[in-house]
Amino acid sequence: VATLAHSFLPWSGRGLVRLAATVACLTVGLLAPVLGSARADPDIRVISVSFTLEGATTVAAIETDRPIAAKVFTLAQLSPRVVVDFPRVAWRLAGTAEQGEGPGVGVVRRYRFAQNAPEKSRLVFDLTAPARVADRRSEFSGGKWRLVLRLEPTDAASFSREAGFPPAVTAAQPAGAVPATAPTAPARRIVVIDAGHGGKDPGAVAASGVEEKSITLAAAQALATILEARGGYQPVLTRSTDVFAPLEERIGKARDIKAHLFISLHADAGARPEVNGASVYTLSEAATGRAQLIRQAENWTLEIEGADRPADVEGVLVDLAQRETKNQSARLAQLMIPELAKVGPVLANTHRRAGFFVLLAPDVPAVILEMGFMTNEKDAEKLATPGHRGALMRAVADAIDAYFARDATIAIAGR
Ligand SMILES: [Zn+2]
Repeated sequence: VATLAHSFLPWSGRGLVRLAATVACLTVGLLAPVLGSARADPDIRVISVSFTLEGATTVAAIETDRPIAAKVFTLAQLSPRVVVDFPRVAWRLAGTAEQGEGPGVGVVRRYRFAQNAPEKSRLVFDLTAPARVADRRSEFSGGKWRLVLRLEPTDAASFSREAGFPPAVTAAQPAGAVPATAPTAPARRIVVIDAGHGGKDPGAVAASGVEEKSITLAAAQALATILEARGGYQPVLTRSTDVFAPLEERIGKARDIKAHLFISLHADAGARPEVNGASVYTLSEAATGRAQLIRQAENWTLEIEGADRPADVEGVLVDLAQRETKNQSARLAQLMIPELAKVGPVLANTHRRAGFFVLLAPDVPAVILEMGFMTNEKDAEKLATPGHRGALMRAVADAIDAYFARDATIAIAGR
């Protein structure tokens, strides 16, 4: 049975008191973003643009004060460059608020920025040689957002083949018509991917020595890449390196950015080494046997007791109980299980109790995926391979696709 190593909170008896204390701590984190969102500040600020070299790869980091939708593409004419289009932002870089430039590193000779249209801001990297955007992802730490682009050298032929304005930009314009304003980027689903554990907390450790924290990080990065490639998603990692991130920070992050989904990735630990397979948990799941049986734990908020809880907690708890979040989480879980079953075994018989701390964000549908058992030799071996993790994460992405496709209106209601 995985207990504290999995951020697991007991669900009955004295555990309820601990849960109450937990919720009290969480409240501070929950209320601050609510108050913060009322500020009258239409423009997202671009705070810095920086470059680092990792071997032949140039890593560009664009720092903003809030998450931002960006369209990234390359242009070959007249000279090779990477273009990053934003909805209108407030530049807080060198130069004026309207435009400016700065030096680059590696394959980036310099960067330039400008307000390109009334509702569009553009950042351009002038390249010294053809390079492709091998990866892009959003990161959050220290209260700042970063759009991170990995630029890898490529040959001139591939570069010009892939270069060009993205279809959405040109196709949206009827022939002969010039739109008064640039088309705005469609809203993307924000999926927060939480790589369980990290840093001083290794999670479960396999007999081979492989640690859960490295499996979860690799899987999270794979899922982010898959979702980016499918389009329409803004995957956000709660951590992108081997660092320890407090659970309340992971949740606060998801809530702060109004994430549409929160998926926490773990690999299980069990007392019996023969137990294997993946499983999915949501807050609404009761402590019944089969993973397929997802039941709602009715009245769970009402059972919470604790003399020292602040008055605010009660309001939050009522809020929690009233929202549809639990139903949405259960729906995603129910979509995930059959997809995962196509890749490998899904846990047939377990006795786990819901109540994971990371599932307590009130208005972000959330699930925990235990990808397999670190305590099972075969599972641990498979989870250490990119191929198997990729297959699992494609299954998860299929479920996410289905989740949003089946009822798009509910998923974004109230956002
Ligand atoms: Zn874990």
